[in-house]
Amino acid sequence: MQIITTIQEMREARRAWTSSQRVGFVPTMGYLHEGHLSLIQRGRGENDVLVASIFVNPAQFRPDEDFNLYPRNLSRDLQMLEAAGVDVVFTPTPDEIYPPGFVSAVEMAGPLFEKVEGAHRPGHFRGVATVVLKFFQIVQPYQAYFGQKDAQQVAVITRMVIDFNLAVKLRILPTIREIDGLAMSSRNAYLDPEARASATVLYRALQEGRRVFDLHQGDDPRVVVQAMVNTIGTEPRAVLDYATIQDPVSFQPLEVLRAPALLLIAAQVGPARLIDNFLLHADGSWNVGILISEC
Ligand code: AMP
Repeated sequence: MQIITTIQEMREARRAWTSSQRVGFVPTMGYLHEGHLSLIQRGRGENDVLVASIFVNPAQFRPDEDFNLYPRNLSRDLQMLEAAGVDVVFTPTPDEIYPPGFVSAVEMAGPLFEKVEGAHRPGHFRGVATVVLKFFQIVQPYQAYFGQKDAQQVAVITRMVIDFNLAVKLRILPTIREIDGLAMSSRNAYLDPEARASATVLYRALQEGRRVFDLHQGDDPRVVVQAMVNTIGTEPRAVLDYATIQDPVSFQPLEVLRAPALLLIAAQVGPARLIDNFLLHADGSWNVGILISEC
């Protein structure tokens, strides 16, 4: 496995691969878990060359967020990526990606940047879209892998690929969950045992929202939101940021309960701010993710 830290080296590696070789790309912020590995495994199976990146992107954190605290363990990550058969790990420094004089950014009008997670983390999706565009330019993958866990990120990147005619195929994979339903996340490392036990309330709230959604097709979406809010309210250690139901592509609010619909939730549980979602499809199926025991 080749470990690359500069853009120039990454470009040289890219040039060595022929146009008939499929290059897969899995961008991450490291501190890898089974959720990341599900993307890597799929990417390994579907491509001739697999590139993963590890980059904690300062541009997507506000000054009061957890950029400095964000868990990092590069040697462990590299072992995991090597064992999973990754060919190249691209792990640049912030200065490599944002050299002096860097002033550009991807901008998007409307709810994709401004609503839901975007309203609670102003500037977050500008940082995400900008770094993903840069990585797509540097790695030039045939296809790139993202998790449904970050549903709004998926919607933003999908829109960017369409709007800028980017020559990359997006592959979106289901959320991988712990056996009790907690969505895997590098930020789960912040949870002490008590907060870890409380953190399942996000999954329970989404399940309750899905149940109520099923009973109230065609009704006012507020019944579903209220069901999620009430469930979060049963857990004293959880402080709700938002519970909402949106169109999964545009992030416009739903007028009535009808699939496709995206239930989204964010809550502070002890020291960790956690997000989760269920995607409810029009054919009646649910993409709620995969419990680790079923992998
Ligand atoms: P991150 O390192 O948190 O930026 O995540 C890197 C990629 O892994 C993103 O596309 C995430 O959506 C995806 N990911 C993170 N957690 C999970 C999970 N539990 N299941 C599936 N994909 C995930």
